[in-house]
Amino acid sequence: GEAKETNQLCVHYFEALSTRANELANMTSKIKHAIKNQEFELYLQPIFDARADEVHGAEALIRWPQSDGSFISPDVFIGIAEQSGLILNISKWVLLETIKHLAQLKAAGFIGSIHVNLSTKDLESPEFYDFVEELVTNDPSLSDFIIFEITECAMMTNLEAARSMMQKLNSRGFEFSVDDFGTGFSSLVLLRELPVSQIKIDQSFIKDMLTQIADYAIVESTLFLATRLNCKVVAEGIEDKDLKQTLTSMNCDYLQGYYFSKPVNVNEFIHKYANEEKYRII
Ligand code: C2E
Ligand code: MG
Ligand code: MG
Ligand code: MG
Repeated sequence: GEAKETNQLCVHYFEALSTRANELANMTSKIKHAIKNQEFELYLQPIFDARADEVHGAEALIRWPQSDGSFISPDVFIGIAEQSGLILNISKWVLLETIKHLAQLKAAGFIGSIHVNLSTKDLESPEFYDFVEELVTNDPSLSDFIIFEITECAMMTNLEAARSMMQKLNSRGFEFSVDDFGTGFSSLVLLRELPVSQIKIDQSFIKDMLTQIADYAIVESTLFLATRLNCKVVAEGIEDKDLKQTLTSMNCDYLQGYYFSKPVNVNEFIHKYANEEKYRII
């Protein structure tokens, strides 16, 4: 569409495209096949409450296991699914799979919410809205347990579609988190224009913030801005204790990263984190 062509700043999904058209066509039919044959798996990565030092929620991350035991990275196939329109089916699958496991998670004692990633195509799709609207009509509590994550890039690719979809879903109780905050060149506009209640600071700012003064300053300023805007902040990519302690002392609300846990399959998540006794990590 027009919006996509004029948006020169969101290039990462399109880089793969310019390479090999054949490979792209192959991958597209592989994804179709995978959807039909239920090859995808839902993984969950816990998100910790920095102050309470316990699991607060989790991010749903799709996994595509291959017969040789490896995984194709979502960074590879999500972009291709976007281009071919298959992303809608993937988003619906992730949402249904999340809902299916929510009952199990709740039964095990989990009281947090699950973050589900959406793409531009979802935001542009009336069919996607109808799908979610039917789910939340059937179970009005759903909007308390699902948070939608949308990257800045996805919001900016079609700002009007994002605004309209987000407002409609927001009026049905859903909240939104800006994913990869700071990487999209339009971060501040989004905070002013869209109903956003949470910011996820991209891991590229977190990673070196203890040694790079510019990264530290960006994280510090984002936390200040978020507080003034009544937004919660998640720091992504926490890989060690120093980062955890620093961000906790800076009053960052939530932390996510390998230091706490890699994404794990739902059974492992339930086993390790769903039970209230277990998920305290003090
Ligand atoms: P994202 O939404 O920003 O997700 C965070 C990514 O960072 C995940 O990669 C996660 O495994 C990784 N991560 C978490 N903690 C750490 C850490 O401490 N260090 C490092 N180096 N990485 C960490 P993953 O699962 O490979 O997903 C990559 C991207 O693919 C996601 O970025 C998201 O944009 C997309 N994606 C994944 N699952 C879905 C999905 O179900 N739907 C959609 N639309 N996109 C998805
Ligand atoms: Mg995300
Ligand atoms: Mg992110
Ligand atoms: Mg990302």
